[in-house]
Amino acid sequence: MTHSETFPVTENTRLRRLPRRGSYDHAAVHAILDEALVAHVGFIGSAGQPVVLPTAFARRGDVVILHGSVVGRLMKTLAEGVPLCLTVTLLDGLVLAKSAFHHSMNYRSVTVFGHARLVTGANEKEAALRALTERLTPGRWDALRPVTAKEVAATTVLELPLLEAVAKTRSGPPVDDAEDLDWPVFAGVVPLSMVAGDAIPA
Ligand SMILES: Cc1cc2nc3c(=O)[nH]c(=O)nc-3n(C[C@H](O)[C@H](O)[C@H](O)COP(=O)(O)OP(=O)(O)OC[C@H]3O[C@@H](n4cnc5c(N)ncnc54)[C@H](O)[C@@H]3O)c2cc1C
Repeated sequence: MTHSETFPVTENTRLRRLPRRGSYDHAAVHAILDEALVAHVGFIGSAGQPVVLPTAFARRGDVVILHGSVVGRLMKTLAEGVPLCLTVTLLDGLVLAKSAFHHSMNYRSVTVFGHARLVTGANEKEAALRALTERLTPGRWDALRPVTAKEVAATTVLELPLLEAVAKTRSGPPVDDAEDLDWPVFAGVVPLSMVAGDAIPA
């Protein structure tokens, strides 16, 4: 029997609510990160106000790569090494129960806690930007007009080490109360998925 490596269970990531839906396996966390295209990053802004911002990202090995404008608040704040929480969510379905109370959603989600670090060095930055581009549009980096030194300098690249992470998943039909099962309304799952349309030439 083989064991996947697992993330430690910490005060941040210990699932108290429905822990059976959780997984600390690297493989489970990586699979969700690798399917999602958008992450939401939460941190405390300068005035003490919590902020959550959506952003593109890519996993490369044991780190998540983030990038953005050097003048943007997101990159400037995260580059200071502030505590952050990164969340990704894959929505798999609406779960329609007999009662409003038991409605739910099928999903696969991940939370990562930690501190980002600045990637310095033009070569390291370019490698990270390549990984990010290839993640979103595989095979495209080499076909593109090569990135310039000025563009690399205008882009902040951050790495978030995957040290503290957990996945949570719901799947399957609604869980109705036995006495509701004959109630005359549809119950079941409406599957949802993200589908790419036909590309529209510019
Ligand atoms: C698409 C979607 C819809 C949801 N709708 C609702 C809703 O309407 N109402 C509601 O109360 N909850 C909803 N949830 C579940 C919600 O995300 C929390 O799991 C739940 O509210 C329990 O939160 P908690 O802080 O009490 O859990 P706790 O178990 O105390 O959380 C402890 C730690 O577990 C981890 N964790 C908790 N939830 C998740 C998660 N979903 N994914 C990854 N890690 C997690 C985090 O690291 C967190 O810090 C939804 C989840 C998804 C993905």
